Amino acid sequence: MASRILIVEDEKGIADGLAFTLRQEGYQTTIARTGKEALDSFAKREPDLVLLDLMLPDTDGLAVCRTMRRTSTVPILMLTARDSEMDKVVGLEVGADDYITKPFGIQELLARVKAALRRARVRDQERGEEPQGQLVAGEIVLDPVTRTVEVHGRPVELRPKEFDLLRVLITHPGRVHRRQDLYAEIWSEADFVERGTLDVHIRWLREKIEEDPGHPRHILTIRGVGYKIVP
Ligand code: CA
Repeated sequence: MASRILIVEDEKGIADGLAFTLRQEGYQTTIARTGKEALDSFAKREPDLVLLDLMLPDTDGLAVCRTMRRTSTVPILMLTARDSEMDKVVGLEVGADDYITKPFGIQELLARVKAALRRARVRDQERGEEPQGQLVAGEIVLDPVTRTVEVHGRPVELRPKEFDLLRVLITHPGRVHRRQDLYAEIWSEADFVERGTLDVHIRWLREKIEEDPGHPRHILTIRGVGYKIVP
């Protein structure tokens, strides 16, 4: 079945051009011109991929992305005229999968769309083999289906990568995860991974989950090897 792509773009020329090109490649397309239209269409049609303009008339693309991420792991490619590192970091933090700076070549865009759809398929297949029930380590409860986490019964808001990291750790309580394995499982080639990224995410997780982040009782460092979670 043809992949369905939601194009969120208020500039008519760009939106129509994208829709035309993508349809020629065999994709089904829907265009939304505002953030509100985008979220309505997203809920109704459940697209396989979203092309999301950063600057919309009623809201910004980051807010739209964040809202979509609450309920969905669909690939989101952000389109932006800005090309600062800051925007990239913010976009990836709110859960965008990739970034394309305007003006972009249509071949580059098609290649990124294909790659994002392929990664999503692989990821969904892998998820299918994982337990779908809640995962528990002591007072930490993670639900892989709703992508929610509770500590002591209280909901904790995690960034997408923090959630992925906790999910990997909590799937096998007590098991030591090597640093290189965690990097490979959680970050893709499209992510901007800098040295120390893993440790920063571990620190953020501890701040949200541990009673005393300076003396963690759950997420433990195994010096020279990696990390593990214990109940
Ligand atoms: Ca725009």
